[in-house]
Amino acid sequence: MNPIDIQVIGDVLAIKWDDQEESFIPVETLRRRCPCAGCQGERDIMGNVYRDQPKPLPPEAFRMVNLTRIGGYAIRPAWADGHATGLFAFDYLKSLAELPSDN
Ligand SMILES: [Zn+2]
Repeated sequence: MNPIDIQVIGDVLAIKWDDQEESFIPVETLRRRCPCAGCQGERDIMGNVYRDQPKPLPPEAFRMVNLTRIGGYAIRPAWADGHATGLFAFDYLKSLAELPSDN
């Protein structure tokens, strides 16, 4: 499964896959579901997750300024607030696209 085209259209990330399927993910969802340790918390050996209290994100946190392809498996968006450590694997993107839009 590979994206053949990825574009930000307004506030939605549109992905066209090589099976001709298309995924549309609100940019805000992408940021809120950022899989990096800083956003999702770290898990200790007991399986406990430590995460900071959700901090209110400034509006620029939801503005994507850049999008980098990482090898053949992920994309890494850069956000206007300087955050750019989240790697979104393609199968994770597909699962985000299938979430109800009011998540
Ligand atoms: Zn993050």
